[in-house]
Amino acid sequence: MIEKRDFYINGRWTAPAAARDYAVIDPSTEEPCAVISLGDRADTEAAVAAAKAALPAWRATAPEERLAYVEKILEIYKARYEEMAEAMSLEMGAPIDFARSEQAGAGTWHIENFIRAAKEFEWVHPLGDGTPGAMIAYEAIGVVGLITPWNWPMNQVTLKVIPALIAGCTMVLKPSEEAPLSSLLFAEFIDQAGVPAGVFNLVNGDGVGVGSQLSTHPDIQMISFTGSTRAGKAISIAAAETLKRVVLELGGKGANLVFADCDEKAVKRGVRHMFENTGQSCNAPSRMLVERSYYEKALEIAAQTAAETQTGNPREPGRHLGPVINKSQFEKIQGLIESGIKEGARLIAGGLGRPEGLNKGYYVRPTIFADCTPDMTIMREEIFGPVLSIMPFDTEEEAVAIANDTPYGLTNYLQTQDPVRTNRLLRALDAGMVVANGKSRGAGAPFGGVKASGRAREGGRWGIEEFCDVKSIGGWVE
Ligand code: NAD
Repeated sequence: MIEKRDFYINGRWTAPAAARDYAVIDPSTEEPCAVISLGDRADTEAAVAAAKAALPAWRATAPEERLAYVEKILEIYKARYEEMAEAMSLEMGAPIDFARSEQAGAGTWHIENFIRAAKEFEWVHPLGDGTPGAMIAYEAIGVVGLITPWNWPMNQVTLKVIPALIAGCTMVLKPSEEAPLSSLLFAEFIDQAGVPAGVFNLVNGDGVGVGSQLSTHPDIQMISFTGSTRAGKAISIAAAETLKRVVLELGGKGANLVFADCDEKAVKRGVRHMFENTGQSCNAPSRMLVERSYYEKALEIAAQTAAETQTGNPREPGRHLGPVINKSQFEKIQGLIESGIKEGARLIAGGLGRPEGLNKGYYVRPTIFADCTPDMTIMREEIFGPVLSIMPFDTEEEAVAIANDTPYGLTNYLQTQDPVRTNRLLRALDAGMVVANGKSRGAGAPFGGVKASGRAREGGRWGIEEFCDVKSIGGWVE
C-alpha cells in the first residue's frame, strides 16, 4: 500500500491541515492500492497564498528562464518515465504497455510540443502595419487553478501545468482523487527541477471540497478544467461571482462517418479507436455511421475486431484492454448497455457482465450495437466504456445531420477516399476537431471542442495563449 498523504505547497511536502484519508482503488483488483488525504479549506488557502506570493517574481522572469525549467522537467520525466507508466497503470488500470506508449507518452509529447511553441511565441509584437507604437503583449493571467480527470492523467496535467509555467502563471493543481498518484509523482519532477517555491502547488481533494474552493477563490484568475460536462457547468456557475476565466474541456460523443469508398482498414481502425483506453476517452469515435451499401460488410469487420479484442490484467504486457476506473463507472456502463438492449439496438459483440474468466475487477465486455437510431440513449449519452453504437445512413446530408445532432462537439471522424468529399465534410462537421482517414492532427495542434464539449484549446501556441491576458499597448517606443 502506497501512503501519499502530503500535499506539495510552497516548494515543500506538507501534511494536510486535517487528516481525511481517501483510499485509491486499483480497478483491476477492486482493492485499495494507496491512501491519500483529501484537502480542506485551510490547505486550499495555503496553496493559493503560496501561488499568490510567488506570482510577481515568476511572472517577471524572462520567458527563456521559464522555458529552461520546462526543459529540465522534460529531462526528469524521461529519466523517470517507467515510474510514471506504472503509477498510471496502478491508479486507473491502463495496461502497462499502453501506459508506457500512450498514457506516459502523452506527457512527453505535450511537453515537447509546448517547448517548440514557446520558442516561437511572440510575447510582444506590433499590432500591424500603419499603427506605429501600437503593440500587443501576452501577459500571464495570474494564479490559476487546474482541475484534472482520471482518464488520461498525465495528458491533462501536462496540457495545463506546462503552458501555465511557460506563460508565467503560478498555480494550484487538484488532480482527480481517483487517480492522484501520477500527479504526486509529477510534483516530484517539478521539485527535482528546482522550480521556485510557490510556483506550482498540488492539493489533493474532491470536487465539492478543494475543487469548488478553487473555483470560487477571489485570488484565482482562471480555472482550467477537464472533466465531465456536469462538473464543467458547476464550475462555471461557481466561478461567475469572481468573474474568473473558465476554460473547459468536457465530454464528447464523436461521430465516425464511414462511406462505402473508405479504405479497407477504416472500420477496424474505428472499432479499435473506440476501445482504446477501455473507451474512456472524451474524443472516442462512439457513434459509427455507415453508408448503407457498406453496412453489412462493416458490421462483419466490427464484430470480428471485437472478437479479437482481449481484456485482462493491466500489469501484464500486451495489447489487451484493462478495466474501467471504478464501480460507479462500471455500473453506469452496464446500465447503458441494458438501455441499448431495451431500446431495440442489436448486440453484435459483448453485452452485459464481465468478460469470460474475469470475476473481479471492473472489466467490461467490448460491446458493439448495430441498427441504432439517433434517439437511442446509447447514441446520445457519453458512455465512457468500450461500447460502440453503429447505424446505417443513405445520404451524405443525412449523415452530417445525424453527426451534428448532439449537444457535444469535440471530435468527429471521416472515412472516405473521395478528396472533394473529404474536404467538404471536414468543414461541415460541427466539432472542435475533425480527422479524416486515420490521419494525425499534427504536433502542437490545439485540442478542444464546441458546445457542451467546452471551448478550451489546449496544446501548442493556443494552449499558451489560454493562460495569458492580451494587453493592448499604445505609445510603445521603438
Ligand atoms: P469529473 O467531472 O467527475 O471530475 C473531473 C475533476 O473535477 C476531478 O478532479 C473532480 O474531483 C473535479 N470535480 C468534480 N466536481 C467538481 C466541482 N463541482 N467543482 C470543481 N471540481 C469538480 O470527471 P471524471 O469522471 O474525472 O472524468 C471523466 C469526464 O472527463 C468525461 O466526461 C470525459 O469526457 C471528460 N474528459 C474530457 C476531456 C476533454 O479534453 N474534453 C478529456 C478527458 C476527459
